[in-house]
Amino acid sequence: MQALDVIVKKRDGGVLTREEIRFFVEGFAGGEIPDYQVSAWAMAVLWRGMNADETWHLTEALADSGEVLDLRSVVPLSVDKHSTGGVGDKTTLVVEPLVAACGVPVGKMSGRGLGFSGGTLDKLESIPGYRVSLTVQEFIDQLRRVGIVLSGQTGDFAPADGALYALRDVTGTVPSIPLIASSVMSKKIAAGAQAIVLDVKVGSGAFMQSEAEARKLARAMVEIGRKAGRRVVALLSDMNQPLGFAVGNALEVKEAIDTLHGAGPADFTAHCLEVGANMLVLAGKASNLRAGKRALQLAIDERSGLEMLRRLVQAQGGEVDYVDRPERLPAARWIETIGAKQPGYVRGVHAGEVGLTAVDLGAGRRMKGEQIDHAVGIVLHIKVGDAVTVGQPLFSIHANDPARRDDAIRRMLQACTFSRRPVPPLPHSYGKVGP
Ligand code: URA
Repeated sequence: MQALDVIVKKRDGGVLTREEIRFFVEGFAGGEIPDYQVSAWAMAVLWRGMNADETWHLTEALADSGEVLDLRSVVPLSVDKHSTGGVGDKTTLVVEPLVAACGVPVGKMSGRGLGFSGGTLDKLESIPGYRVSLTVQEFIDQLRRVGIVLSGQTGDFAPADGALYALRDVTGTVPSIPLIASSVMSKKIAAGAQAIVLDVKVGSGAFMQSEAEARKLARAMVEIGRKAGRRVVALLSDMNQPLGFAVGNALEVKEAIDTLHGAGPADFTAHCLEVGANMLVLAGKASNLRAGKRALQLAIDERSGLEMLRRLVQAQGGEVDYVDRPERLPAARWIETIGAKQPGYVRGVHAGEVGLTAVDLGAGRRMKGEQIDHAVGIVLHIKVGDAVTVGQPLFSIHANDPARRDDAIRRMLQACTFSRRPVPPLPHSYGKVGP
């Protein structure tokens, strides 16, 4: 078999066999198939697509390119969640402790911010001392001992995906549903997840801007899960406006802690209960979503979720006092609140633009490896559909640099749009794919 034959077959709309896909991925991972051929193949896949079997074979081949963790001897059933990335999405910081407090051990490997979307690891590092790099053995030991782990990728999982993703990033071949679905699922499967709740974001602050595309991606991932013998559900959730109010690392950690105290924003709390209840149902800990949400609400009311977060921070070397006194988290030098100039109704808060503004304040990276500023970001005071009066606060900019602050104010004034007529609130959810 030749790499060229596989490329030409896909270019001409053919269906690749399992052997052809394995040959191609193994050849790439082993350095025998050069980047330029892999790039041409990725472009052929982007245009021609892949059927469900091809997508599954690609996922399997990517997962098998590195370590594959089997957690079945560590926990009865390992449950994971994965968000396709959004703005103000601090769901993991709340859901993992709540689910763990309900008696389901959760070990999760998270990522860093990418483009306009934030990353859980960057948020956690707002807490002094918190160690995101664990070895596989430390991950397993902590999962067994504490029942909760939140780290970066610990082992060498799906390395072929890492290399393929880097090529896709520079060859315009990221937005392909089979390539995204296999990329996400190969890492989840390799990291040992038996049950997975996927949170597929839809809107201006998400990879998938239309509901139809998001649904296709969700279906592709759920189908991979079925073929892999994993329990998978995919929620489609709104990302046209940021989730909750806070955008920026320490600001989001504080909002997550408030939520574990029962004082979080309504949309964000509802989202956490939805994601968490789906995890409890998949894990067999709740008989239905209603029972799952009740259990999670109890974990909020009794502060057992908060206690789980404390244990997590302690286990990973962070200073627990920051969970108890979040006012100690890094804070920006300037906080400027901007009020409404006219009365009206909030028509839009463009999530993508809010995310990029936060990045430019220093909350994210414009270049790989760049240092981030945990203190800076944006706190919104409005949601789409809200009525506003003159002078009512719209947003607060948390900045450490006056020029960046002024630029952020200007951009946020464009990101927030208003109407004279009432505007309906945005839905939180566009439904779900899976059992
Ligand atoms: N996230 C991934 O892990 N892979 C993709 O291809 C896109 C988003």
